[in-house]
Amino acid sequence: MTSLENLTQPISVLETLKIKIKEAIEKAKNNPIAESRLIEVEVLNNKMEDNFIKKGYHDTEDIIQEDLILAEILKSTSLADNIIEFEEMLKQIASEFGLSEEWAKDLLAHENAHANVSESLNEDWIGYGAVFIKDEQGALSNIQPIHFSRPKMNWGPKESIIKKIEVLSAPRLYGNELSEGDESDLKINNERLEKIRLNEEKDKIHIAELRGRLGI
Ligand SMILES: [Zn+2]
Repeated sequence: MTSLENLTQPISVLETLKIKIKEAIEKAKNNPIAESRLIEVEVLNNKMEDNFIKKGYHDTEDIIQEDLILAEILKSTSLADNIIEFEEMLKQIASEFGLSEEWAKDLLAHENAHANVSESLNEDWIGYGAVFIKDEQGALSNIQPIHFSRPKMNWGPKESIIKKIEVLSAPRLYGNELSEGDESDLKINNERLEKIRLNEEKDKIHIAELRGRLGI
């Protein structure tokens, strides 16, 4: 009698959310991306970014490649649509892989900081998630919590990089530390911005010289 009553009970919203997240984790866990592939992806992304800065716009080929790379990474990612789902995801990962509650709490605050600033700057939002990574032997070697957002395609290189820098530095605004990945991405993007500014200065000097020569 009791079991029958249980069967007819509607599943609560929280239970539905828990099941959805469990399935997302399971799917990503069974399809981790190789560490070596992530290194290749980083090289490709840097190449596309350099091309974007040089040309001032995104090549169609690069846009397609970028979308393919994102789709590939998302296959190894458990995706959460919002912060409530992400909190549940981190809890489940912590309990399944023996990580502390503190770990989950810190990462929630950290990724939320990135996401808040990204939203305020009007970047394209994809979602929160955790990327499952395997080593060369195929064994699960890392789980990387992350927020996925990207600059709008119609922004120029300077605007895009300035906003990226703000999003990367976001945890500092909330009193959180930056990750090693944030630090190295920040360094790369600061160097890119510096280079763009130097080129702008050179262009200004060049125009001034031309004006001087032409007497205008
Ligand atoms: Zn970060």
